[in-house]
Order: sequence, then structure tokens, then C-alpha cells
Amino acid sequence: MSATPPVALTIAGSDSGGGAGLQADLRTFTVCGVHGCVAVTAVTVQNSVGVSGFVEIPPSVVADQIRAVATDIGVGAAKTGMLASAPIISAVAAACDEVRIGHDGDAPFVVDPVAASMHGDQLLADEALDALRGELFPRATLVTPNLDEVRLLVGIDVRSREQQYEAARALHALGPAWVLVKGGHLRAEPECLDLLYDGSEFTELTSKRVDTPHTHGGGDSLASAITSQLAQGAPVADAVRFGKRYIEQAVEHAYPLGAGTGPVSPFWRVRAP
Ligand code: PLP
Repeated sequence: MSATPPVALTIAGSDSGGGAGLQADLRTFTVCGVHGCVAVTAVTVQNSVGVSGFVEIPPSVVADQIRAVATDIGVGAAKTGMLASAPIISAVAAACDEVRIGHDGDAPFVVDPVAASMHGDQLLADEALDALRGELFPRATLVTPNLDEVRLLVGIDVRSREQQYEAARALHALGPAWVLVKGGHLRAEPECLDLLYDGSEFTELTSKRVDTPHTHGGGDSLASAITSQLAQGAPVADAVRFGKRYIEQAVEHAYPLGAGTGPVSPFWRVRAP
């Protein structure tokens, strides 16, 4: 018998193609040494070419999954992915309060504000942005928007480093303890610059830009790698640095799959490439 590993919970949608969503989260948790639990929010019909539809799980069932995991197994840290609708977001916020997941609670909470897939398929209802900003951001230990999500959430179309700083301040004003503004989509920059901000100090985290079309599940995997470290008690800045190194490798080892966009890969951590 082995010792029980730390536990992380993902509150996320299923990707039938196995590239992103809860499948990417669980893979990442495993290779980062934590046991993964899941509260499923939606089931997408998806392959490497795109999302052709999804059904939402009833909000009360999403909340019950969170309660079932937290009250028996316990949650070291949690993250969100696709939340689909405002009623699901409200149910997640209430359940997380109840079981003390959140930056004022016992378990750190990473909110990845997933709004659309990289192919542009909408994964969050328009009216759900208010719930994300008003109900989930104030409870978050860390939020991890990409630049498309920044535009939707705070209306800043980031084209420069100065605007990335401005966006970090605007997002922090919504209540999370830490903000990570991911600049990977700023293609004019030679490196990927992610900006970390805790309300007083900015940290610029750079990584090399890898030339690959296969980055499906990249955002989910980064947030999961960060969450895996928070579940093991790491400070936020250390967890984010680990996540950056992890995702850099995962993008470098991404593989083609189907006719469209392949996923970032965790296999380098479990076998020689
Ligand atoms: N499908 C699901 C279920 C997701 O949770 C996500 C992202 O979080 C995606 C698709 C989109 O992933 P990508 O932006 O890599 O296409």
C-alpha cells in the first residue's frame, strides 16, 4: 500500500477528443503527483477540428459532486475550466463556500475563465460573464485569463506590455488574490510573457515561443499544473513558476491528432519521448 497523495479537484467540462477539458486536467494532475477528482459541468461533443455541441450538467449535480468529494476525500486545491452557464457558476460558488474552497477558505482555488475554444467555439454563455466576474473572481486564489478572455472580462484589447499591466490591475480589482495574464497570444512578442500580479508586485515570467499548431488543452494544462503544486502546499508564485516550466515542455512535446489541432503532451514526464 502507498501513502495517499495530495488531492486536487477540477470543476470542468469533458472533451470527447481527450485533448482539453477534464481529460487534460486529470492527465496533468497524475503526472504532477496528485490524485485528481472531478466535478463535471458539461459534456462536449468534440474532436481535433472543433466542438459541435454540448449538454450542461444540472447545477445542483455539479454542486453535489463538489460536496461529495470535499466531505469524504478532502480537497487540497481546486480549479475551474469550462463552466458553461451562470446557474452553474452560482452553484459552484455556493458549494465552494460551503466546503471552504477559495482564497479565504482552506483550499486554494484557481479560476481559469474559459470562454471559448481555440477554434472560437463558445463554451460560456454571454450572460455568464457577470457571474464569473461577480461570484467567482472574488473567491479565487488565482485567475488565469488569456488575452481573449481579458478582452471579454475587462474590455481591454491587450496589444502591448503596458496594456498587459493595465489588464492585470483591472482584473485584480475584481477580487482575486493573484492574477496571471497569459500573453501567449501576443504574437508580435518573440517570447511568451505571462504577467503575475498580487495587487502590489508584478512578476514577468517569460518562456520561449514554440512554433507548433498543436496547443489544444494548453490553458487547462497550465492551470492544472499550478493547482497540483498548490495542492502540495506550494506558495502561489512557486506554483505558477512550476506551471510555466511544465507547459513549456508540454507544448514542446505536443503531438498531431486527427485532422485538426493536437494536444499538448504530458508523456515526457512518464516516458522517454
Ligand atoms: N473543451 C473543453 C471541455 C474545455 O474545457 C476547453 C478549455 O478549457 C476547451 C475545449 C478548449 O481548449 P482549447 O482552448 O485548447 O481549444
